[in-house]
Amino acid sequence: MLLFEKSLVWFRRDLRSFDHAALHHALTLSRQVYCAFIFDRSILDELPKYDRRVEFIHASLLELDTALRELGGGLIVRHADAAQAIPQLAAELGVDAVFCNHDYEPQAIARDAAVGTALKKAGRELRTYKDQVIFEKDEVLSLAGKPFSVFTPYKNAWLKKLQTELAPAELPAYEVEALSAHFAPLPPATPAIPTLSELGFEKTNLSELHIPTGMQGGQDLLDDFAERMRNYDSTRDFPAVKGPSYLSVHLRFGTVSIRALVRRALDAIRIGAGGSGAAVWLSELVWRDFYFMILYQHPHVRERAFKPDYDAIVWESGPHAEEIFQAWCDGRTGYPLVDAAMAQLNQTGYMHNRLRMVTASFLIKDLGIDWRWGERYFAEKLNDFDLAANNGGWQWASSSGCDAQPYFRIFNPLTQSEKFDPDGKFIRRYLPQLAKLSGEHIHAPWRVPTMELQMAGVTLGQNYPHPLLQHDEARARTLQRYAVVKKVTVEDERP
Ligand SMILES: Cc1cc2nc3c(=O)[nH]c(=O)nc-3n(C[C@H](O)[C@H](O)[C@H](O)COP(=O)(O)OP(=O)(O)OC[C@H]3O[C@@H](n4cnc5c(N)ncnc54)[C@H](O)[C@@H]3O)c2cc1C
Repeated sequence: MLLFEKSLVWFRRDLRSFDHAALHHALTLSRQVYCAFIFDRSILDELPKYDRRVEFIHASLLELDTALRELGGGLIVRHADAAQAIPQLAAELGVDAVFCNHDYEPQAIARDAAVGTALKKAGRELRTYKDQVIFEKDEVLSLAGKPFSVFTPYKNAWLKKLQTELAPAELPAYEVEALSAHFAPLPPATPAIPTLSELGFEKTNLSELHIPTGMQGGQDLLDDFAERMRNYDSTRDFPAVKGPSYLSVHLRFGTVSIRALVRRALDAIRIGAGGSGAAVWLSELVWRDFYFMILYQHPHVRERAFKPDYDAIVWESGPHAEEIFQAWCDGRTGYPLVDAAMAQLNQTGYMHNRLRMVTASFLIKDLGIDWRWGERYFAEKLNDFDLAANNGGWQWASSSGCDAQPYFRIFNPLTQSEKFDPDGKFIRRYLPQLAKLSGEHIHAPWRVPTMELQMAGVTLGQNYPHPLLQHDEARARTLQRYAVVKKVTVEDERP
C-alpha cells in the first residue's frame, strides 16, 4: 500500500543497496524514493585530514551510488551539518517522509530527534527502523522484564528468541531489487560526489593495506571467512594467524548485513559445516548486539563506569601519566607484544581482538591510566571504531563494565605473549628491530644476555626501549588502587 508520493532514504552506517530495512520500507510505502548521504560536518570537522574511515566511507559511497543508479536511482551526497541538511533536502525534494535506520549512540539519538522535530514542523514524517542489529533496545529482556547486564543469560535469551520467535519472520533479507521501480531518478544537475580533497581529507594507506571497501569488499571477506569459520574457535586468539573475519569495519559502516552474517553462521551450524567455530563466531555477533543494548539502556557508560563504585578509583595523573600514556600510544612500553599491537593499530587502523584486551589491560592495570584515555585513543585510530563495542571492551578490561573481568584478574603481558604469539611471528612483523631474537627471547628483551642482544642487533634504550615498569610491581600497585572498589563493594553488601 502506497502511503507517500515521495520519500527520502537517509543512509548513515548502512552503506548498501541490499537487505536494507529503511530502503525496503521506503520503496514499499512510497511511489518515488530518493537516496542521500550527508558527510556530517559535525563529525568530520573534528577529524584529522588523514582518516582511513573517511576514505573507506568515500570509496563505499562511490560503489553504492553506482549500485543505486543501476536500480534506477542514485545517491545525493552533501557535505554539511546533517541535522540541518536532511530537513532542508527533504524540503527541496518535496518529499513526504524521510526513512532511516536506528542508531543507538546518544549523540545520534539526539540528532535524529532534532531531525524528526524539524521534519514534523514542516509537515513531514521521520520513519526509523531496526537494521544494524538482530535484537535492539528492550527486545531481549530477563524473565523479570529487565535488561540483562550479564552476557551468558542474554545470549541464551537472544538465541531462544531467534530460534522460537523471529527466525522465519525477521531473518530473511529485506527485499530491494524487486521494488526498484520505485527509485526516483536523481534530480537534474545533482552534483557529483565530492572528492576526498573537496571534503578536506587526504588519501591514506587504505589501498596499500588492501582493506577491501564497499559491499563487494564485505562480500569477499565474508566468502573468504566462510572457509575458515569452522576453525574460528581455535585460531581466533593468535594474532599471527588469519583466524577472525576482519569484517568489523564492514559491520561498522553497514556494507554487510548483520542478518546475512547470522544466517551464514546458522546455516553452517545447521548443516554441520561450522565445526566448533561457527557457534563461537555467532557468539561474537551476539556480543555486538549486547553492547549496543547496554549503551542504549545505560547511556551513562559513555562518560562513567557501568558500575558506579569504580568511579572512585584514582588513576595516575600529571606529566608522568601523560608521558607513559604517550609511550603506550606510540608502542614504546618495552613490552614487545604491547608495542607490536600498538604498531598494528597505528599503521593499519586494525588491532586483533586478543591484543585489544592485552593493550587495554596493560594501559589500565600496569600503567594505572584511566580507561577513558585508552578508549579515546582507540576511537581516534580504529577503522571499526564503534562507541558501543569500544566502550564495552574498555570497561571490560578495566573491570568497571557489565560482565567485566574481575578487578583482580590482571593480564600478564609476558605470558600472554608467550601463549598467543609463541614464536614471536606477530611481534617480528611489527617490530623488525627485534626480528633476529629467538622465539624464546623475543617476548622479554630485557631478560636477554647482552651478548645475544648484540648478535641480534638490539640495543636497549636505542633501537628498542627498556621496559617502562616491571609487571609484578605494577600488579601490586593496581591491586592497591582497586582496593577502593573492594571496600565500597563490601560496604554496599552490608545489610
Ligand atoms: C578494548 C577493546 C576495544 C574494542 N573496540 C571495538 C570497536 O571499536 N569496534 C568493534 O567493532 N569492536 C571492538 N572491539 C571488539 C573486537 O575486538 C572487534 O570487534 C574485533 O577484533 C574485530 O575483528 P573481526 O571483525 O575480525 O572480528 P571477528 O572475531 O571476526 O568477530 C566478528 C564480529 O563480531 C563482533 N565482535 C567480536 N568481538 C566483539 C566484542 N568483544 N564486542 C562487540 N562485538 C564484537 C564484531 O562486529 C566483529 O566484526 C573491542 C574490543 C576490546 C577488548
